[in-house]
Amino acid sequence: MHSIDIDPKTKGEVEVTGWIHEIRDLGGITFLLLRDREGITQITLPKRKISKEILEKVKKASRESVLRVKGDVQEDGRAPNGFEILPSSIEILAMAKSPLPLDPTEKVSAEMETRLDQRFLDMRRPRVKAIFMIRSYALRAIREFFYEKDFIEVNTPKIVATATEGGTALFPISYFEREAFLNQSPQLYKQMLMSSGFERVFEIGPIFRAEEHSTRRHLNEATSIDIEMSYADDKEVMRLLEELIYHTYKYIAKNASRSLRVLEREIKIPDIPFKRISYNEAIEISDLEWGDDFGALEERKLGESMGEHYFIRKWPLEIKPYYTMPCGKNESKSFDLMHPRAELASGSQRVHDHKLLEKQIEERGFSPESFFFYLNTFKYGMPPHAGWGLGLERLLMTMLDLDNIREAVMFPRDRRRLVP
Ligand code: ATP
Ligand code: MG
Repeated sequence: MHSIDIDPKTKGEVEVTGWIHEIRDLGGITFLLLRDREGITQITLPKRKISKEILEKVKKASRESVLRVKGDVQEDGRAPNGFEILPSSIEILAMAKSPLPLDPTEKVSAEMETRLDQRFLDMRRPRVKAIFMIRSYALRAIREFFYEKDFIEVNTPKIVATATEGGTALFPISYFEREAFLNQSPQLYKQMLMSSGFERVFEIGPIFRAEEHSTRRHLNEATSIDIEMSYADDKEVMRLLEELIYHTYKYIAKNASRSLRVLEREIKIPDIPFKRISYNEAIEISDLEWGDDFGALEERKLGESMGEHYFIRKWPLEIKPYYTMPCGKNESKSFDLMHPRAELASGSQRVHDHKLLEKQIEERGFSPESFFFYLNTFKYGMPPHAGWGLGLERLLMTMLDLDNIREAVMFPRDRRRLVP
């Protein structure tokens, strides 16, 4: 039983398990706060009413030890949820050593680095745990959304032979007698699945970026929500993306209200459709030249001027990947979804013509031979298609107003951190 499954009117014996959050010995009476995944239960031990054996055990138990408590529920307006438990038995399941390397009650605050070093204890903190409860709700909302839209969930390899975008931002690994890499994006594979006839696929999985950035919005291992959709163009997958964002916010506001309260956050469900501006309008606002990409400074400037979620469309072909569908003169059917604090997603309609794709690969200075496994799938009937990749941690960070993306990952990987 969890703390939330009990209320002041619950009859009969209940059993709760959890960690000792706090013990207050007031002489004649001892209060023990027991914390589980869902909340805190007050265990009350009036000396006169409780057996010596139980009182001895409680005296011995250190903070953060794990207990199993059985007893009767008693209404009490002063207790955390309006009730307390009078124990008839207490079992110490695991003793905790003291002192603790980090205080899970948050009475003593800690720096981010210390928190991440002791992440297992840090995540015992109700406010930290709430983030991951919400992350789980977000994943559920996203999966439900895609299944509802007739998508199928896929898993593509994370150990690969070539770079998706030919960049240098890859982690090399040794693969028997060859060199391999950790994949930076499922892009090539989800496109190949369009040729296999799956029509609508989504994948939620890790992406690895070897960039040496050390910012509040970059990780070296992130989680990407990736889709690819046959017979769709850029506009259609943009609509799908804004609907997904809207649905996820709404789902969390409705289903994760308790975690939001613990976190002391309210979320504002964004209005859709999101504003759409062209790349040309965006460089005007941020004082850039045609062909420039937006840095952190420009993104902030744009964010201030837009105020909420928005799309930047029609990027110059030359600064988007080779698989991007060209349009007009030097432009492309591409888009980024932006939140005032960070880029959330990138997407486009893709090139589905073999010749054009080969040409665009060559124009970037890559050799078509190293993309043979990918290019080959365009020769035998590749439907037109479009898609995007959305960063889960960026979505959570902006939704919950977390000041660092590391707050949205249980065990973040960054330039300096490989443990725990
Ligand atoms: P940025 O310009 O913000 O570094 P990007 O354009 O390099 O991002 P894409 O390759 O377009 O990123 O990846 C698609 C999405 O995946 C991004 O919009 C972002 O939400 C997420 N993402 C990419 N790289 C990272 C990263 N290093 N850390 C966290 N999320 C990331
Ligand atoms: Mg991008």
